[in-house]
Amino acid sequence: MRQSCGHQPRSVYVWPRESGLIIRVPRSTVGITGGKRVAFCNLMNYINQDDADWWRQKIAQIGTRCFNQSISRWAVRLYDRSLVDPTGHITAPDLASLSSRIGVPRKFMTRAIATLTRSGLVHASLSGPVHLIIDFARLRRRKNSAQVTRTAPSRRVRAALLEADGYLCGNCGKSFEVSDLTIDHIIPVSLLGADHPGNWVTLCRKDNLSKRDRFRPHDLRYYRSAPVEGSVRIRFRDGFFWPIINARLRTETREDWLST
Ligand SMILES: [Zn+2]
Repeated sequence: MRQSCGHQPRSVYVWPRESGLIIRVPRSTVGITGGKRVAFCNLMNYINQDDADWWRQKIAQIGTRCFNQSISRWAVRLYDRSLVDPTGHITAPDLASLSSRIGVPRKFMTRAIATLTRSGLVHASLSGPVHLIIDFARLRRRKNSAQVTRTAPSRRVRAALLEADGYLCGNCGKSFEVSDLTIDHIIPVSLLGADHPGNWVTLCRKDNLSKRDRFRPHDLRYYRSAPVEGSVRIRFRDGFFWPIINARLRTETREDWLST
């Protein structure tokens, strides 16, 4: 009998279809039931207490670092409640009903979820019905970095952004050649920041490198060629966080930019 070579590619598992989420899970956690691929989904069998504690600690740290201690506590609560769910998949018609079911106040809910997505352990789809799905492949690996997919802006949108920002770096305020400018997500996509122009700003390469994948509300000094007063606040809308800059909520989408 031929032995399994162990070099099979990882399965790509789409679950559930309506959430639009694609998760990579080890082949061993995928089986066939009734002709459909399903993930073996009893988390309590899948994780051990050490792993669960490791992730709880990580999530607490991320919540404190990205938001504050209060968000950190609610994120840990959300995490604990997610682990208890035997399917590892929490779904609700909207955030309000999820809040009352999980016992996390609505006003802390989106940031608690963002903490979990930031850890890389949970995938979330929040535009429309809520889906939170634990990433099986990560549970045992203890690697807390979110792998998020961004869609590169089209050449036209990128050019329009650099022009709107006056070819200035939003952090240091100096002007640069086009080739030395990059597009930064003010609120990182891993923290549920929108992947749209409203949440983009031009940064020089050096400042983009040092900012990394963090949210630095006090570092933004220029946006659309104008000085930024005070720090950036954020608001959740249509499934993502958008920045509030100079008292104005910036929710411009790619489509908005292409239609002008
Ligand atoms: Zn700069």
